[in-house]
Amino acid sequence: LEQKLIHSERLASIGQLAAGVAHEIGNPVTGVDCLAQELRDYSQSQDAREIADQILEQTKRIGKILHSLVSFAHTGQASEQMTVESVSLYRCTDEAIALLSLHQDTRGIRYINNCHMDYLVSGDIQKLTQVLINLLSNARDASPNNAVVTVNTIPWEHSITLEVTDQGSGISEENQKRLFEPFFTTKGAGKGTGLGLALVYSIIEEHFGTISVRSPVNEGDQGGTCISISLPRHMAELKSSTRRETEGNLVG
Ligand code: ADP
Repeated sequence: LEQKLIHSERLASIGQLAAGVAHEIGNPVTGVDCLAQELRDYSQSQDAREIADQILEQTKRIGKILHSLVSFAHTGQASEQMTVESVSLYRCTDEAIALLSLHQDTRGIRYINNCHMDYLVSGDIQKLTQVLINLLSNARDASPNNAVVTVNTIPWEHSITLEVTDQGSGISEENQKRLFEPFFTTKGAGKGTGLGLALVYSIIEEHFGTISVRSPVNEGDQGGTCISISLPRHMAELKSSTRRETEGNLVG
């Protein structure tokens, strides 16, 4: 509990800091970006134009980081902004996969949505889709070429468990402890921000859910990671589905 408290206090202050920093840094960076564009477009010197291109690449990168800081500050906090409705985890998964598939993937990663269409949870569809985007992109980044990333759901009486399983490199025990820390990343410079799972954690907390990590996926395996999230079941669905399950003796 103490750890949880430290975590959410940290997140709250990081959120405030992030919003402030993003604002303060955004303007001068836009200035640098404009000047570099002018240099690239109007300079007579080939060398200067190449350097301008490099500056532009870096400002683009800063822009990306600022963007993720802002969305972190925005989504990672402020529970009053959460809309609670019945959410299909199948749909969230579908949307997240569609979004990730927009990026050209030359590595042949396949995403499989094995979620049950009828399982509904209570929550905010935007935030839960964000959770899936973050989990799937981590799974993708850890995966070898032509690997499969699977999402499935398991029904319980009062909750639904969602599992994202990959065939990737796995996570060491040491790193598992730090996974949800803001800014913890093992992805090289310029690749990760370390905010993805911190955001996932705070969204799940907001939904009164739980999250756990299993890696390697199976005892004796080389790698593979399974991140599982449990979320409260949407009540209306709970009744009809309980009935269905008892009648047909079918769970899962
Ligand atoms: P980022 O993706 O920007 O690094 P995250 O908070 O999303 O930030 O993830 C933190 C770290 O957790 C990653 O850098 C990676 O080391 C590890 N990680 C997360 N998901 C997986 C996974 N499915 N397989 C292996 N490592 C993972």
